[in-house]
Amino acid sequence: MRYVSTRGDAPAVGFEGALLAGLAPDGGLYVPETWPALDRDLHGLDYAETAAAVLAPFTAGALDEAALLAMAKEVYAGFDHPATTPLVQVGPDRWMMELFHGPTLAFKDCAMQLLGRLFETVLARRGERLTIVGATSGDTGAAAVAALAGLESVDVAILHPLDRVSPVQRRQMTTVTAPNVTNIAVQGTFDDCQDLVKAMFADRPFADAMRLGGINSINWARIAAQAVYYAFAATRLQGPVHFVVPTGNFGNVFAGYVAKRLGLPIGRLVVATNVNDILARFFQSGGTYAAEGVQATLSPSMDIQVASNFERALFEAHGRDAAAVRGLMARFKQSRSFTVEADAFAELGRHFGAGRADEAATVARLRWAAANGLGVLDPHTAVGLEVALGLDLDGPVVTLATAHAAKFPAAAEAANLALPPLPASMADLFEREERFTVLANDLDTVEAHIRGAFR
Ligand SMILES: *Cc1c(COP(=O)(O)O)cnc(C)c1O
Repeated sequence: MRYVSTRGDAPAVGFEGALLAGLAPDGGLYVPETWPALDRDLHGLDYAETAAAVLAPFTAGALDEAALLAMAKEVYAGFDHPATTPLVQVGPDRWMMELFHGPTLAFKDCAMQLLGRLFETVLARRGERLTIVGATSGDTGAAAVAALAGLESVDVAILHPLDRVSPVQRRQMTTVTAPNVTNIAVQGTFDDCQDLVKAMFADRPFADAMRLGGINSINWARIAAQAVYYAFAATRLQGPVHFVVPTGNFGNVFAGYVAKRLGLPIGRLVVATNVNDILARFFQSGGTYAAEGVQATLSPSMDIQVASNFERALFEAHGRDAAAVRGLMARFKQSRSFTVEADAFAELGRHFGAGRADEAATVARLRWAAANGLGVLDPHTAVGLEVALGLDLDGPVVTLATAHAAKFPAAAEAANLALPPLPASMADLFEREERFTVLANDLDTVEAHIRGAFR
């Protein structure tokens, strides 16, 4: 399988190239050159077997299904539920799929755990090392540290904004003492962290000397690995199955589109946003994508205004016309806004829909869930459920439960609910010693620290 860039100005690469590069050199995102069809019946397969079957077409030429299965069995055995991603019924034909049974209690583990093994295998084969740098508002960094700690061929440096991630999220990163992990608390915001990471990649001498790689959700391998749980759910319910996806960067919901293109019985893919609703406004306005300022909410992992993975959907909706995508992205860079043509909007509307929940509705839905036997949910899942229960769709609707409630104490408190305890594997999180370095929001300072940490 080969991968092309959504901006059309980068050479096609194989799976290994897409995995190691993250972003394409022309600034675009990698997508498969052609969409494979899954000619396999997934009924009766467990999660690891489903993962190997779904991923095999995307890794063809780099890894075969047997190699994938060995990795998948190992990593998903570490999840604390026998079904890996269990379905919970919330009403007639209405379900939640719990994606938070991995080591850091958010759905990002589902893909990141596998990504660690993919990096290790591919790098060992090439005799190469990689330095992963990433910015996090909490969940991605924790999942990356958990997946990459202790690996032979990878060093990992995670930047988080000082005092702006929850204590559970911070401790999940900073209590990991493996020598290949360094945590940096930047005196600044999440956007500052992200700008520093972008600047490190743009600093070619530094990027080449450190052999930088990325793990944010633009990495194709993460998207592909997330398609697995859509396939798993669609195989278990009488399809077509609709999904409601708490959304920030459009990565998770695009993985649903990938599963649909593979041929799985999937109906609508509904984006659920909080008040940072650029995507909901896009669908309501008939195709105008216009950024506004980011507001802090109870569901912080969706406090995003620029949904980087949306570019992949735009590429498909424009008949894979990279010039059209380049035009939209240039317009967005200039004026923070663009409007798509009617044809492209209609094509997006065939697959995707959107809804939004404000803070009051999120809190009310948290209280409703607790009163209706669903326990304390996390706020991102509550946003999803709020949108899902307002939809008029026939057939099964699955809301993705993206995190464990214990990760987001502010939301439980706002809803006047007792915070559930951390799972046993993390019961001593607040007794463990922390290790991180506070640095100024300054490129030279951060680069010098990373160079020194992994000399
Ligand atoms: C990352 C995250 C999201 C948003 O996922 P995207 O792929 O960015 O759309 C939603 N909920 C939780 C808990 C997250 O960690």
